[in-house]
Amino acid sequence: MFHAEKCDFCGKCLEFCPYAGYDLARARKEMRELVAGGKPPIVGSCVTCASCNMVCPTKANPFDLINDRQEETGALGIPEQAMQNFAKLHSLPTVIKKGREGKPVMNICIVGDMVRELLDNPLFEGLTVVEGADYFCTVGYIHLGKPSPVKKEAKRFIAKLAALGSDEIVCFHDDCYTMLTTLADEFGIKVPFRPVHLFEYLCRELENRKDKIRKLGIRIAYQSPCASRYTPEKEIYLDKVLQLIGVERPARKYERQLALCCGAPLMARDRDRAAEVKKWNIDDAKSVGAEAMVFLCPMCYLNLRKLCKDDAINPVFITELCRKALSA
Ligand code: SF4
Ligand code: SF4
Repeated sequence: MFHAEKCDFCGKCLEFCPYAGYDLARARKEMRELVAGGKPPIVGSCVTCASCNMVCPTKANPFDLINDRQEETGALGIPEQAMQNFAKLHSLPTVIKKGREGKPVMNICIVGDMVRELLDNPLFEGLTVVEGADYFCTVGYIHLGKPSPVKKEAKRFIAKLAALGSDEIVCFHDDCYTMLTTLADEFGIKVPFRPVHLFEYLCRELENRKDKIRKLGIRIAYQSPCASRYTPEKEIYLDKVLQLIGVERPARKYERQLALCCGAPLMARDRDRAAEVKKWNIDDAKSVGAEAMVFLCPMCYLNLRKLCKDDAINPVFITELCRKALSA
C-alpha cells in the first residue's frame, strides 16, 4: 500500500530504478505526477520489480502506487491471452501429498509442474507437500499490473494453509513467503502459523547433516526473484547455506539491492527489452567469473537457463546445489 503521507518527493525511488535511467529532477517530477493522480511514463515502462519500495527512505512504497496506476490505466498493455493464461492457475487441481507425522508442510503453490523433479531430494524427505488452486498465493498478478486480486485472495490463501494445522509452513515459492510475511501484514491479516522461507529450511536441514557435506568449491551468481524485494532479510539464510556447502558468491553489480528482474514479466509486452535486461544480468555474472547461476524462482530459471548455458554458466536451483553437496 502506498503511504502518501510519508512521501516527501525526494525522488530517490525513481532515480534508483535500474531500468528508467532518470536523473533526480525527472524522478521527482514523475513522483509528483503520480501522487497527483497522473500517469507519467514510468507507469508504462516499469518492469514491476518492486525494488523502489526497498530504497524509499520513508517506506512510502512507491511501487505500490505505480502498480495501482497500472491497473487503473492498463498502461502495461499486457495481452489478454497472457491475462487469461495466468487466470487458469486458479483451476489447477489442489493436491495434498501426505508426509510423515511431525514433519512440516511445504507449499509449492502453482509451480508444481516446474519443480516436481526437484522434490526428489533427501532434504525434503517426509514433508507433506501441498499445491494447486487452494494454495495459490496470487502474488504474480503484480507483474501483470493488476494487484487487486492479490489483496482479494489473501484471506482465502492464508485460511487454506492454516486449515492444514501445521505450526510451520515451508514456502518453496518466494511469492508465497512475501504474501505470508509482508503483504499479509499490510492487509491486516493474521497468519496463525510460522512461514518458513526455503532458505531457512535448507539452512536448518544442512546444519543437521553438517558431517555429510562435501564443499563444492565453486563461484556462483545468484538470481534473486522480484518477490524477494519485499523480504530481503532472509538473504542471511542464503549466505549461510552457501557457506555451509562451500560456495563463493563474489560481489557483483546486479545483486542484493541492485538485483535485476529475470525478464519474465517483460516477455509478454516487450521481448527486446527483456533480452536487454537478461544480457545485463548474464554479462555481470560472467564478469565475476561465475561458474553457475543459482535460482530460487522457477520462472527466473526458465527465462535465463538458455542464456546461462550459451555463456557456459551452469543454471542450477538452490535445492539441487544443496543436494549435490550431500551426495558426494
Ligand atoms: S516514494 Fe519514497 S523515495 Fe519516492 S519520492 Fe516518495 S519518499 Fe522519496
Ligand atoms: S518497480 Fe522496479 S522497474 Fe518499476 S519503477 Fe520501481 S524500480 Fe523501476
